[in-house]
Amino acid sequence: MAYTLINLPFDKHTLEPAISAETLEYHHGKHHQAYVNNLNALIKNTKFETLYLDEIIRQSDGAIFNNAAQVFNHDFYFQGMQREESQPSEELLELINRDFASLEAFKEHFLATATTLFGSGWIWLALDESGNLRIESHSNASNPLLNGHTPLMTCDVWEHAYYIDYRNARADYLKQWWEIINWEFVSQQLIDFNEKRSSHPNVCNDNDELCNYIDTLEQTDHSNT
Ligand code: MN
Repeated sequence: MAYTLINLPFDKHTLEPAISAETLEYHHGKHHQAYVNNLNALIKNTKFETLYLDEIIRQSDGAIFNNAAQVFNHDFYFQGMQREESQPSEELLELINRDFASLEAFKEHFLATATTLFGSGWIWLALDESGNLRIESHSNASNPLLNGHTPLMTCDVWEHAYYIDYRNARADYLKQWWEIINWEFVSQQLIDFNEKRSSHPNVCNDNDELCNYIDTLEQTDHSNT
């Protein structure tokens, strides 16, 4: 299948001054678009042509992996922002309090991780197989799907995400980005994760060896141990 660039879920001026229209013109209109175009050209007439994006990410490497993951990561990033103020759902807040002590402590930890990632990459909030929240720092195009984890939120810390508006001041960009998080989108990812888990309690969300192994363990009778 051919992939298409998602439309931004907001007008390009909406996020100003945190993120300018000019940044979005480049970041969405040029960088994100280029990843989509490259991916379509690279998978044409290959076994990847019929796969879903998450499957391509799990099964490919090199240029196909880089472009597929960058399409996925940018789709996630742009959908995860909005101008209207929003709050984590009660359910998400409970998990944040459980795993990071408080929203404020989580914010501090997340932004510090994003500030200190060396070079280009992405900072994610993700759920592991047991439903625990984790802050994950990934270089280049990498993301939590590679660990078998479920992404809830991401921040792009490639320089192209902030250089027009903030030059080299990544920490200033991060501070502003925190104010435009679309918590409804983030909270919805938790709802989707829980629904998937309750409908397939023993099944991982992908087919790699580790998940098959976990499935086997979960299906084993441990009553004698
Ligand atoms: Mn980017």
